[in-house]
Amino acid sequence: MAVSDGADGFDPETDPVLRADGLTKRFGDFTALDGVDLDVRAGEFRSVIGPNGAGKTTLFNCLTGALRPTAGSVRFRGEDVTRLAPHERVRRGMGRSFQISTVFGGLSVRENVRLAAQSVAEGAGEISLRQELFSPTDRFAGVADRTDAVLSDIGLADRAGEHARNLAHGDRRRLELGLVLATDPDLVLLDEPTAGMGSEETRRTIALVEEVLSDRTLLLIEHDIDLVMNVSDAVTVLHRGQVLATGPPERIAADDEVQKAYLGGVRE
Ligand code: ADP
Ligand code: MG
Repeated sequence: MAVSDGADGFDPETDPVLRADGLTKRFGDFTALDGVDLDVRAGEFRSVIGPNGAGKTTLFNCLTGALRPTAGSVRFRGEDVTRLAPHERVRRGMGRSFQISTVFGGLSVRENVRLAAQSVAEGAGEISLRQELFSPTDRFAGVADRTDAVLSDIGLADRAGEHARNLAHGDRRRLELGLVLATDPDLVLLDEPTAGMGSEETRRTIALVEEVLSDRTLLLIEHDIDLVMNVSDAVTVLHRGQVLATGPPERIAADDEVQKAYLGGVRE
């Protein structure tokens, strides 16, 4: 019997929220991603790790829609989203870390969060950016509430009036996390949120991710294997575009193949 293609038959208790099936991405004759299968369950904190060049960002881009895979499929809550644009995935509840450039430096922290919240609010598509910026907030009461909640969650309530460009690097990362949260996602995808941070800031950022996103399903892509071991429910190791291992952190840490991949990988 044919299995329904749509989200109708989706059961969050038993079915993975996110499923990648044979995900493959070639750049010319180079295969960056090679038949990756991935199942992420509701409420899970999943980390995807791997040495530099393993294909982590390529995987992230195929999952979020920034790249079209050469082969394979991505399902979100039972729906095939492989061919959907990034914003269509965000609307369905796939929150992703925004590109640096979508933080508007000349706008306040609050306005940045509010724009992200509004981007998924009903009818947002029909409203121009200019109207969005200058609309009275009472027209968007839900958006205003959500904005306040997010500002508090990310610990930037007292800096809400500050221009985003004046934020220190760590606070900037908090704001980026806030932009993801503002879209009220069922699944959050983060690609190396600690890139460029020192060890103390890295530790604090991972703690923040764990704290703020503990009630969400999270797929965290991270280069540093040690960093994710204490916080993840399960870890997937990518190596040369393929899944080398998936399992609980303790098992991954003790895996010989994983150790070899890291020792043999290019460390930057
Ligand atoms: P990671 O995020 O794990 O460090 P990437 O996914 O960024 O790895 O890259 C995986 C491999 O694919 C690397 O060898 C990289 O050079 C290559 N690659 C990534 N993007 C492109 C592209 N647009 N064109 C050609 N090669 C690419
Ligand atoms: Mg990367």
